[in-house]
Amino acid sequence: MRLWLEAIDSRLWNWFAATGSVQDGKTFNCILIPLLYHLFELKEDVIFGVPRMDMAHEKWKVDILPAIQHSSFRNLLPSGGRGSRGGFAELLEFKHGPTLRFMSGHGGDETRSGATARAIFITEADKMEKAGGTSREASPIYQLISRARSFTTDERVIYEECTTSFEKGEIWQRTQEIGTASKIVMPCPHCSGWVTLEREQLTGWREATSVRQARREAKYICPACAAAWDEDERLAANRQAKLLHRDQTIGSDGEIHGDPPDTDTLGFRWNAANSVFKTAGDCGGDEWSAERAADRDASETDLRQFIWVLPVEPSKVELYELNVDEIVKRTTKLKRGIVPADTVKLAVGIDLRTVEGHYTVVAWRASKQRHLVEYGTFKIAGKTMAVDRALYLAVEAFLTGVVLPGWQKEGGGMVVPGAVWVDANWQGEERGTRGGAKPVYQLSRKYGVLTSVIGRGAGVYKGGNYSAPDKRNKQVRFIGDGYHGVVMREHGIVVVQADTDTWKVNLQHALHVPLLGIDGSANPGAITLHSAGSIGEGHRELSRHLTAETPEREWVDDRGFVIRWKRKHHANHWLDSTTLAIIALDSLGCRVIDEPKPKRTEWGKGRLRARRIEGWGIARR
Ligand SMILES: [Zn+2]
Repeated sequence: MRLWLEAIDSRLWNWFAATGSVQDGKTFNCILIPLLYHLFELKEDVIFGVPRMDMAHEKWKVDILPAIQHSSFRNLLPSGGRGSRGGFAELLEFKHGPTLRFMSGHGGDETRSGATARAIFITEADKMEKAGGTSREASPIYQLISRARSFTTDERVIYEECTTSFEKGEIWQRTQEIGTASKIVMPCPHCSGWVTLEREQLTGWREATSVRQARREAKYICPACAAAWDEDERLAANRQAKLLHRDQTIGSDGEIHGDPPDTDTLGFRWNAANSVFKTAGDCGGDEWSAERAADRDASETDLRQFIWVLPVEPSKVELYELNVDEIVKRTTKLKRGIVPADTVKLAVGIDLRTVEGHYTVVAWRASKQRHLVEYGTFKIAGKTMAVDRALYLAVEAFLTGVVLPGWQKEGGGMVVPGAVWVDANWQGEERGTRGGAKPVYQLSRKYGVLTSVIGRGAGVYKGGNYSAPDKRNKQVRFIGDGYHGVVMREHGIVVVQADTDTWKVNLQHALHVPLLGIDGSANPGAITLHSAGSIGEGHRELSRHLTAETPEREWVDDRGFVIRWKRKHHANHWLDSTTLAIIALDSLGCRVIDEPKPKRTEWGKGRLRARRIEGWGIARR
């Protein structure tokens, strides 16, 4: 932190961007100290930019106000009007004249116009920007900075801080690409090298058999001489640290060679190895635990962002572009509607529209392959009667007439599906109305086999994202891999909420896996299709549905990279119904990788319909 304040003092730059590990006084040092300096010592107006105005209130209450109250400037706090006695206002005028004005990144332009100031503070900069959004010049940050336009570039001064999110995020770009990309170098107590400690230098935790052992044995080693540093040595080395800007070098005598890059922006970054609050042991314990976490992607994201201050990389899920010909190649000789002889479980997925429903029937075989037994449509009279009524009648007719009798098994007998999952995002509500009848929920209540599913974006989740609950409770009755069941008391059912976006990746992968492994046996996970002989166009139309959307990665705050499906062409209903069918199979315990057989779980009590479903109630994340 001494290095940061020295750098500001040097006046070599007028844009100071910082990113560092959490709980290290980032806000205090990077924002509050310079803020108080401009407000009270230079006695000038400042603008404080936040992503949303509700965050301004919190920043004021939690960070700024206490800092002023504990400083010698506390008697300059506003004494009358809004913002007095510790209250919050978007514009606060201090007793000696200068103002502190909050501005939000997402407010309309009028909230930012009219005010000007030489000093601008920006907190949580990455949240101001939308990943892959519009041009940088039109971004909220540039609009904030334009408030200082009445001052020359040399006069104005900007302070910016954020946790590192991903490489294209504002703070990483600002500190590492546009700015000086400065790094903290420390003298090694064992060799004479000046070195930077990063994640790779933390060793000793990996071999541990318990988290406590990991904490005891974790230590940093010097990247130059490989000697281990103890905590006293690390703290001592940090006290002697120097700042090395991009392209500069440092000799063993501590002499820095070369000029700083020719830029207005100081890009300052530190990580847990520079922290007085985080010991090597703490970090080693975190690493050890993260490696064993159920959701390793999420733990890795946390470690990179909050401890090591590295941009998060997209997880290693491969994204394929499906093509129609490849799907058609997966056809087998089994006729449409015939369930393979070695079928273990059968599941159905249904997607609803005003005039028809699309369904897919998928079998899970002993070989762990999935076979698409049948797909088709059924009519819904949504144009000639009330849509909710039409939905109810059509789905009930399909259930009783087609689903409940089951499908014919190769070699004789019938197979009844163990799960029928229907998309309940839309249940006949007209645009803009709430719709009270909820025919799909009514049917789920009447027919135990029918499960209502709410996919991502149903408004249940903030921002339309799926988020998995941590544990079961009165509301959450079971947790699967990317789906969970929630009690909906007013309808007397358990509704499944599902991360359909991630499951579409699973489906896409299954449509890519070669049917046969290198040894010639059936490849687990692959999907085969019924014979195309009976349908005129082959599987062309199905293929068009399955390829109607393509996956893209998108950065989402607090979640990291998520997969979003972008629609390429309109008809995608069999993609939705097939996805539901394969999640339904997973819920029946059909998985490519074996897990301990879950106990039979009963869910639903009291007035709720009690039913037995195999394979639910296991918590995988
Ligand atoms: Zn060394």
